[in-house]
Amino acid sequence: MTTSEQQVDMLIIGAGLVGSLAAIFLAKRGFAVDVYERRPDMRAVEMSAGRSINLNISCRGIEALKRVGIADDALAEVIPMKGRMMHARDGALTYQPYGKDDTEFGNSISRAGLNKVLMNIAEETGQVRFHFDMKAEEADFGSNTFVFSSPAGDKVEVRAVVAIGTDGAASTVRTEMMKLPGYESTISPLDYGYKELYIPPADDGGFRIERNALHIWPRGTYMVIALPNFDGSFTVTLFLPYEGPKSFANLKTEEDVRKFFEEEFPDAVQLMPDLVKTFMINPTGHMETVKCYPWNVEGHAVLMGDAAHGVVPFFGQGMNCGFEDLTVLDECIEDHLSQGGALFIERRTKRDQERRNYGKLQTEGGSHWEQVFVDFVRRRKENCDAIADMAVENFIEMRDKVGDPKFLLAKAVEKILEKKFPGRYVSRYSLVTFSNVPYALAQKAGAICDEILAELVTGIEKVDDVDLARAQVLVDERLAPLLVGRPELAMKS
Ligand SMILES: Cc1cc2nc3c(=O)[nH]c(=O)nc-3n(C[C@H](O)[C@H](O)[C@H](O)COP(=O)(O)OP(=O)(O)OC[C@H]3O[C@@H](n4cnc5c(N)ncnc54)[C@H](O)[C@@H]3O)c2cc1C
Repeated sequence: MTTSEQQVDMLIIGAGLVGSLAAIFLAKRGFAVDVYERRPDMRAVEMSAGRSINLNISCRGIEALKRVGIADDALAEVIPMKGRMMHARDGALTYQPYGKDDTEFGNSISRAGLNKVLMNIAEETGQVRFHFDMKAEEADFGSNTFVFSSPAGDKVEVRAVVAIGTDGAASTVRTEMMKLPGYESTISPLDYGYKELYIPPADDGGFRIERNALHIWPRGTYMVIALPNFDGSFTVTLFLPYEGPKSFANLKTEEDVRKFFEEEFPDAVQLMPDLVKTFMINPTGHMETVKCYPWNVEGHAVLMGDAAHGVVPFFGQGMNCGFEDLTVLDECIEDHLSQGGALFIERRTKRDQERRNYGKLQTEGGSHWEQVFVDFVRRRKENCDAIADMAVENFIEMRDKVGDPKFLLAKAVEKILEKKFPGRYVSRYSLVTFSNVPYALAQKAGAICDEILAELVTGIEKVDDVDLARAQVLVDERLAPLLVGRPELAMKS
């Protein structure tokens, strides 16, 4: 076992989706970036990419890719999902378009595929070095030194001018940061787990079910979803409580699993020849909301992505939100530079020439970055709290209300309002998924939508009875003032 030391400019801890894209953002601004990742290089070693094999990337994520000019490369293999295909117990299908028109849709993308493309692009900049099999274990924010260990037990102490912690929801950097006085975090686990399953491609290589849809088998307190993959397969996810009559606790044997699926999702069973085997092999995933504050230590270190804000996946926004962090960080850098912060890169260059003055320059560089980080955290914290809360609310809504006739009536009225008052009535779902308005604004507008819908469905039984004149008044008075004139509303996936 050896111990060595390294000095680097920009250190990124965690080469997941957010860390790899962060490396590209910083490299494009001229910084030398070193990325330390706990796992082996996923481009060389066949392995699971971690949670969820595929993801829904929507306009916030795409906006970040566009900002660094890599959207075409990164999105070469996406499958547009134009709507949701609902599967009833008897196999009946109901299709609901995602948005109010054809411009609003989701995009299914492979997590590993995207991660690998981001790593390749990062390396192609010539500014980024990846160090794999390096697990962050300790941090000293005073000297900005991070200790990594390899599987063989070798240690490297990496001293950085600036460190970015993108090591995911179970972040070591966050754990270390939260030991500092005045720092706090909360982790709120969901009492649900998830299990990934698989629908293989058809024999002719095609898709066994509609390819351009997100498939949902809603069953009240639990559900199955399936997202298409580029090779004709679907990644299937079962969301289920840990405890209770229908729960992971009651799916212990192969027979339990077979019976449960045959009763609840018979049409899905036919699509998954290896269902039971896969269920028994695959781990049960956990979901949690992570909040913490502050996210930075002066100008030395900052948390981003799930490390700063873990959200449950019921809005499909975790990665999108993490990518939006990078858009906002870049805006903060831009603002800082435009206000005379041009020493930014000069300092790094100077440090290269004067290695022995590293400590002093680190302090100078640090104070410089502090303004950027403080601005970044100020712009992001309330928005990330908002999406974290909305994701839990969405989960509760899906769990408890999908069978409630009043709720379904309100949703039907909402569709009408979105069509009738474009740009003036926009649902919370559309604001989160198909626009780049700040999440906190989507949350505020969503609460107003709920009030308007509650008022409009009071005393009516069917959607045709909705009072559109009253709707217009409510929308114009309460919602339109928040939404009209916002440029982010024009952005589409
Ligand atoms: C079931 C499910 C479905 C989801 N679906 C969607 C979706 O459709 N759309 C969406 O936008 N989001 C979705 N998400 C959320 C999304 O997966 C996360 O928000 C996203 O992966 C966060 O990226 P990240 O880079 O911050 O963290 P991660 O992807 O977790 O990456 C962290 C990286 O850090 C590395 N690391 C960890 N610890 C250390 C350490 N100590 N030292 C060094 N390296 C370390 C890890 O190996 C990993 O490579 C989903 C999540 C789940 C669970």
